[in-house]
Amino acid sequence: MNSDVSTLAEWIATSPSTVFFGGAGVSTESGIPDFRGANGFYFQEREIPLETVLSIDFFNRYPQAYWEWFREVHVPVEPNGAHRALATLEGAGHLDAVITQNIDGLHQRAGSRTVWELHGNWERLVCTGCGAVTPLADSVEVPGDPVPACPSCGGQMRPDIVMYGEALDQGVIEAAVSTIARASVLIVAGTSLVVYPAAGLINYFSGDHLVLMNATPTSADAHADLIVREPVARTFGQVMDKLDEEGIISS
Ligand code: NAD
Repeated sequence: MNSDVSTLAEWIATSPSTVFFGGAGVSTESGIPDFRGANGFYFQEREIPLETVLSIDFFNRYPQAYWEWFREVHVPVEPNGAHRALATLEGAGHLDAVITQNIDGLHQRAGSRTVWELHGNWERLVCTGCGAVTPLADSVEVPGDPVPACPSCGGQMRPDIVMYGEALDQGVIEAAVSTIARASVLIVAGTSLVVYPAAGLINYFSGDHLVLMNATPTSADAHADLIVREPVARTFGQVMDKLDEEGIISS
C-alpha cells in the first residue's frame, strides 16, 4: 500500500468534512476525453475549434452544426471507480458533497446525491423558446433535423450546460463556495484549474488538508498537502480498499 493512499484514507476517515472538487479528468477513465490532458479534445484534429463550437454565439447562429457536433461527442459511458467511490463515501457519511465542472452526470448515475454542477448537465435539455426542461433521453427527434424539438411548444432545444460566453448559475456558485469554505479536507481531482471562474472556487478552502489528484502539474500544486499523479479512479480504488480493510466502510 503506497503511503499517499494510506494518508488520504486516514484523512478521509478522520475529517469532519470532506469535499470533492473535480474536472474532466475524473471521467477520462469512463471514456470521455478531457480538454487539456494527453488525449484531450484540444489535441484532436477538428474542423471547428472547441471554444467556437461550445459558445452560445455558435449555437445561436448554427444550431444544426452544434447538434451534429454534440451527437458525435455524446457517446454512451458508465461511471468509473472514482464516481462509485465518491457515492459510497457520501453514503457512509465520509463525504459532504461533490462539486464538478463536468457536464456528464456520471456522479449522479453512480449514486452521489449532493452534486453541485458548475457547468450544467448535458443529459438535460432546455427549450430556447418556452424554457421547458426535459431529459435528453426523452427529447423529440425531428426527421432530417439534428436539433431536437421541445415536447411542449416545438421550439429548439439546447443542452442545459454553460456555454462559452454565458454566466454560471449564481446559486450553484454560492453553494459551492460555502461547501468548500466549510471543508476540512478538499480533494481536487482531474482538473487543469485553468477554466474560470470554476477553478478559482478552491481558493475559498481554508481547512486542514488540500489534496491534488492530477496526472499533470497545476497552479495549485504549491498549496497542496498531498499530490497524487496516478489515475483518479485507480487511486480511489486503493483508498476504498484501505478504508474497507480498516472497517471504516464496507464495499
Ligand atoms: P481539463 O481537460 O482542462 O484538465 C483535465 C486534467 O485532468 C488534465 O490536467 C489531465 O492531466 C488530468 N487527467 C486526465 N485524466 C486523468 C486521470 N484519469 N487521473 C488524473 N488526472 C487526469 O479539464 P477541466 O479542468 O475540467 O476543464 C475543462 C472544462 O471542460 C470543464 O469546465 C468541463 O466542464 C468541460 N469538460 C467536461 C467533460 C465531462 O463532462 N466529462 C469532458 C471534457 C471537458
